[in-house]
Amino acid sequence: MSIVKASPSSFSSTLLSQFDWLHHAFLTAAAQPPPGVFLLHQIHSATVHEAPGCHTATCGDALVTRQPGVQLGVKTADCLPILIADPVSRCAAAVHAGWRGTLTNIASAAVSRLQSLYGAQPASLHAAFGPSIGPCCFEVGPDVAPRFQSLFPERSDLHQQTHIDLCEANLRQLLAAGLLPAHIDSLPPCTFCGGSEFHSWRRDHHPSARMFSVIAIR
Ligand SMILES: [Zn+2]
Repeated sequence: MSIVKASPSSFSSTLLSQFDWLHHAFLTAAAQPPPGVFLLHQIHSATVHEAPGCHTATCGDALVTRQPGVQLGVKTADCLPILIADPVSRCAAAVHAGWRGTLTNIASAAVSRLQSLYGAQPASLHAAFGPSIGPCCFEVGPDVAPRFQSLFPERSDLHQQTHIDLCEANLRQLLAAGLLPAHIDSLPPCTFCGGSEFHSWRRDHHPSARMFSVIAIR
């Protein structure tokens, strides 16, 4: 399973593409947000909202739904977009996980909400990670690195300038939440060194340049 180019302006997960009742896309820098997509005012939190019932001024970093036709979106430029779907209860989530959101465990907050609202079992959830800054390019200083120690207990270099793998951190959180390794598509391209089809905040410092990731039940 992998993240592949699906059109001139989008990537998709081969894992999620197996579900014909589901639409999903990781749009590139060339694409506009789809009309009608639900987006939140993202604040690097562990706050999850259900759509419909929220709007662009609602603060939070993950959306869930089981209503067909409702498009859930997140906007990113280096942060990790995570799309989650359950083929049993037919619900979905879109998650915005930057380094701050990762430290709040936003991914497992979304899993918990899918479970409490829709009865989704973590072992049946499928998740895909979209284009985001990779461990090749995501360097953090001694102010940030130690905060990842509990996620990377095997590392002894987190007291200094070092590289962090946000995908690996979120993968570990989803596994801890009960997802199965075979149900996670976790190796997306790097936005920073992946070229101009991606926006990268750390590379370009463009405040309004964002890419959109979308998931919807058909
Ligand atoms: Zn890179």
